[in-house]
Amino acid sequence: MINWASTHLKLLTYKDPVEYREGITANFVIFLSLIGLALFTAGHFYYGNTALFYGCGLLLGLFSISLIIFKKQKSLLIILLTLLMGSGLLLIIYINKGQHYSATWSFLYIYICMIIYGHKNGLIFTGIYLFIVLAMLFTWVGQTIEVLEFIRFTFIALTSVFFSYLSEWSISATLKKLTDTQKNLEIISQTDGLTGLYNRRQFDSVFAKEINTAKRNKNILAFVMLDIDYFKYYNDAYGHQKGDSALIKVAQQLEAEMQRSNDAVFRIGGEEFALLFQVKEELDAVTKTEEIRKTIELLQIPHKDSRISAYLTLSAGVFTIKPQQIISEQYAYKACDELLYQAKKCGRNQVIHCI
Ligand code: GH3
Ligand code: MG
Ligand code: MG
Repeated sequence: MINWASTHLKLLTYKDPVEYREGITANFVIFLSLIGLALFTAGHFYYGNTALFYGCGLLLGLFSISLIIFKKQKSLLIILLTLLMGSGLLLIIYINKGQHYSATWSFLYIYICMIIYGHKNGLIFTGIYLFIVLAMLFTWVGQTIEVLEFIRFTFIALTSVFFSYLSEWSISATLKKLTDTQKNLEIISQTDGLTGLYNRRQFDSVFAKEINTAKRNKNILAFVMLDIDYFKYYNDAYGHQKGDSALIKVAQQLEAEMQRSNDAVFRIGGEEFALLFQVKEELDAVTKTEEIRKTIELLQIPHKDSRISAYLTLSAGVFTIKPQQIISEQYAYKACDELLYQAKKCGRNQVIHCI
């Protein structure tokens, strides 16, 4: 319960909780290895085994240094350590000929392997490990261990594999579902359901950032507001469904025109769109918007009730922010809206820009 609660909390702060869990286990394995090596070193010092004391001490030193130097190779190191751990356990079991509960360490090892390698590879790994342990134990049945002991070990080992596999699988599957849902929710909250463009909420959350990015790039940020002309009449003439597909076509065209890395298209209202893009000269912003206006008209979506064209058209207000200007998003929004209003007032199907 505490585990689930803490994992849930991690989910809120860490990008990938599965990776985080593996990371924590990896750190634990490293910690265990360091403690093990330190104990070996101390043990050999205590028993006066000078050669082994220096050998273990040197290993401990090298291991600690490698942790600092090869941080990036940590995942390889963990695989190596778990392999060493497995071989070490097999050696201990072999030396003890299965006696003194030496084989029972395998239960812990199974669980560590499942987390480090994931449920699929963990199963293969522990499968191989257990096969070797069981084969060894089997050869000692009747000599150093009893049949009942062998059966007991086999039963508990298989149960451990099953439950650690099951918990590893269910935890990673649940966490994956949670992160997928989180990602989906993020996408849903940022996009508009009809056109798939970014929505007004996303516009509000990125506008200030876009202004700063353009400033950093020493570029002018063009902020364009677009509004379809006489769209109410379009709906009245062709119906709401046709209106929806016209909006989708316009959105697709806008997206097709805005393909550069810093370009962004938003649907900020019913039939209103916004564009953000960077330019070197103010005139470039007007030229690009003018091109876009033309391509929309060239889509030739029939609009019999439009007062200005046989096709669907739009009007645009272009507001530009120079790198040295300090302008609030609210001011820019209001100013651009005003320019769009001017474009409507001056006859629609046109672009208005103010210097
Ligand atoms: P103007 O040229 O002055 O912009 O005239 P207009 O008719 O486009 O402006 P108005 O704001 O009066 O009308 C906007 C219309 O857009 C009203 C509404 O029915 C329509 N609309 C808004 N959202 C949607 C939508 O999601 N689907 C459809 N089909 N129509 C929509
Ligand atoms: Mg409107
Ligand atoms: Mg309109």
